[in-house]
Amino acid sequence: MKHRIVVLGAGYAGAFSAGYLARQLHSDDFEITVVNAEPDFVERVRLHQLAAGQDLRSRPLAKVFAGTGIRLRVARVTSVDPEHRTVTVVDGEGIDRLEYDTLLYALGSTAADHGVPGVDEHAFHVATRPNALRLRARLDELGEDGKVLVVGGNLTAIEAATEIAESRPGLRVSLATSGNVGGWLGTKARRHLLRAFDRFGITVHEHTTIERVEEAAAFAADGTAFASDATVWAAGFVVHPIAAASGLEVVPNGQIAVDRQMRSVSHPDVYVAGDSVFVIGDNGFPYPMSCASAGPTSKQAIASIVGDRTGRKIAPTSLTYFGNHISLGRKDGIFQLVDGDARSKPGALRGRTAARVKSAILDIAAWSVSHPTLGKASHKYRLATTREHSPHVVAG
Ligand SMILES: Cc1cc2nc3c(=O)[nH]c(=O)nc-3n(C[C@H](O)[C@H](O)[C@H](O)COP(=O)(O)OP(=O)(O)OC[C@H]3O[C@@H](n4cnc5c(N)ncnc54)[C@H](O)[C@@H]3O)c2cc1C
Repeated sequence: MKHRIVVLGAGYAGAFSAGYLARQLHSDDFEITVVNAEPDFVERVRLHQLAAGQDLRSRPLAKVFAGTGIRLRVARVTSVDPEHRTVTVVDGEGIDRLEYDTLLYALGSTAADHGVPGVDEHAFHVATRPNALRLRARLDELGEDGKVLVVGGNLTAIEAATEIAESRPGLRVSLATSGNVGGWLGTKARRHLLRAFDRFGITVHEHTTIERVEEAAAFAADGTAFASDATVWAAGFVVHPIAAASGLEVVPNGQIAVDRQMRSVSHPDVYVAGDSVFVIGDNGFPYPMSCASAGPTSKQAIASIVGDRTGRKIAPTSLTYFGNHISLGRKDGIFQLVDGDARSKPGALRGRTAARVKSAILDIAAWSVSHPTLGKASHKYRLATTREHSPHVVAG
């Protein structure tokens, strides 16, 4: 019987990892199944564009995996049982149970509501495609002078507010954040950001914590009401509750605790990559949930799976974090590098060049999903006769 590898999620981490594994492992020994809720690879980093009304390139997973031997299962994962090595999925046909020998958990994350009343029922978000499309439909309904309130002061809030303001100039866009918008940016980048907000006519309410959301308004901690026809909740990400509910060891925010090789510390047959993983980066800080982190965590998880299952040496992947690239609509942006202590450097690439660089990076990231071994030789490694972890593991 073949060794069954099941990959949960086909976002940046899952799709890249599955493709890479298929090119490294011998199909006589390994069977790779990918489970994803949607039939397409979704460029999540462009979902604010989709919500604003732009159309994204279609990337069907069947095409992405064509010729790789990967089995694609379009279904929603509802639970994982790591003791019995099974995953429960639901699709149009009903409930099914998949068995695995090795699991790669890469279900990503969604919007964090922080338990704020009304967010679930009344707010919109851009963390998943169905929700971005829901917001888009709502924006389509709004006439001139419709009011949009974006809640959050970090990357997604900034990108959503500027994209909506640029694509739909008739709307009145405002942003409320408990701290300072883009407060972590270097001086020049922040000045550039505030100028862009001015240009787009976005009203900014800083030090304003939204504590309740209703259909037509959001309410701050001091009681101030902000009239809003569409409240866009962009106050951070949280991983899906499936991980914690499955009995895998998680940290308080729900991310799965792993060793340096991306193996679950409680269930070493489960590997984790992307937003779902909690790991400390090379700078000593938790590795942030980002597309930029999905690459290195996937590479490490892949190296570990290949090493553990075929008896090869596991090379360590560096977990460095360089900074953020932020779009401010389609023609403006900021590329903010950070130093070794994760502090923003004083300077930053700004303007149209930064926007072009960001767009190119996103295109390369999407392209690399279907070309995962580019620059590396493809192999067909055989399954080692023992299921024990490789003795050559690099210490964490
Ligand atoms: C609007 C927006 C802009 C962003 N911009 C940037 C940026 O500029 N730079 C950056 O570094 N990061 C950015 N990010 C963050 C980045 O998108 C994520 O960190 C990245 O997508 C994480 O990759 P992942 O593979 O872990 O998860 P995802 O890309 O979210 O993939 C998870 C996959 O799992 C599937 N899935 C989830 N739940 C289930 C389930 N129960 N059953 C089956 N399938 C399921 C999803 O459909 C998806 O295909 C942005 C995010 C958003 C929302």
